Amino acid sequence: MNKQRILEAIRSSVDYLLPNQCLLCKQTSSALICPHCAADLPSIKHACSICCLPLQTKAKFCRECLAGSHNFDRARCAFSYEKSVSELIHQFKSRANVPLGLWLSEQLSQQLDSRLIDAVVAVPQHWRRRLQRGFNQSEIIAGHLAKKHRLAELKLFKCHSHRQQKQLKRQQRLSTEGKNYQLKLQPQPGLRLALVDDVLTTGATANELSKQLKQAGCDYVEVWTLARTPKSSGRP
Ligand SMILES: [Zn+2]
Ligand SMILES: [Zn+2]
Repeated sequence: MNKQRILEAIRSSVDYLLPNQCLLCKQTSSALICPHCAADLPSIKHACSICCLPLQTKAKFCRECLAGSHNFDRARCAFSYEKSVSELIHQFKSRANVPLGLWLSEQLSQQLDSRLIDAVVAVPQHWRRRLQRGFNQSEIIAGHLAKKHRLAELKLFKCHSHRQQKQLKRQQRLSTEGKNYQLKLQPQPGLRLALVDDVLTTGATANELSKQLKQAGCDYVEVWTLARTPKSSGRP
């Protein structure tokens, strides 16, 4: 962790110990997010039953899921990835604000039904990014959810290095997009897993990891994330 990161982590910890301002509206608050702002966070009112994409109509599935394009069985996401939520997730990641990450994870935890799940697994992060950021946000979320729902926490994947990616010709690189992960351990056959990440965007990563898990014998894979992007928005 470089000096800037250490300072940010200390600042976040002090903010947590002596919270006096809501992170969103900056009004005096003893909580990280005041009750008014917490109630205003963009929840997902109606979504695709499989991939949790917010839907404007009463349809049960989105077009992609009707075409059967996902390898995971279903996704559960706490919020729609709109301004206030994207701002909070950015603060969590860029300022290594672990207390905020735990607060967001708790909002997700309260919405989950984990009866079909045996264990959680965090989407892995390349070591270089982990070094820059000082932590893997998915592991913070997965750790909280495992504790709250009394589930095992597994580490099943490793990332390909950037050098390995660079050595591939461009065409090969395009065809391996979203395939930068490799199973390092065989999961127990029949295992039912929840893959944990901060935001579900196109689903490319979740799809690739789910495909590998199922090929390795997993029975069922859910994806759990803090937020889900609506169709038109991208991830910063
Ligand atoms: Zn507020
Ligand atoms: Zn869908």
